[in-house]
Amino acid sequence: MIEAIYRCEICGEETQRPVKWFVINCGQSNLTIFRWTDEAANEKGARHYCGEAHAQVYISRWFQTYCG
Ligand SMILES: [Zn+2]
Repeated sequence: MIEAIYRCEICGEETQRPVKWFVINCGQSNLTIFRWTDEAANEKGARHYCGEAHAQVYISRWFQTYCG
């Protein structure tokens, strides 16, 4: 099995072992936050964040614009 590398959308950190990372899937009218699972992480449109702080950065932006 090939190990994927995931990259935080905020700080650019990369990891093959995303411990305590989060996945966010952004829609036009909803924002879904997942605890990390490979399934969620590999879903179409999924975004990856290295921790709560960076997930929150994205969530804050989402309140102002959609999926920007
Ligand atoms: Zn980060």
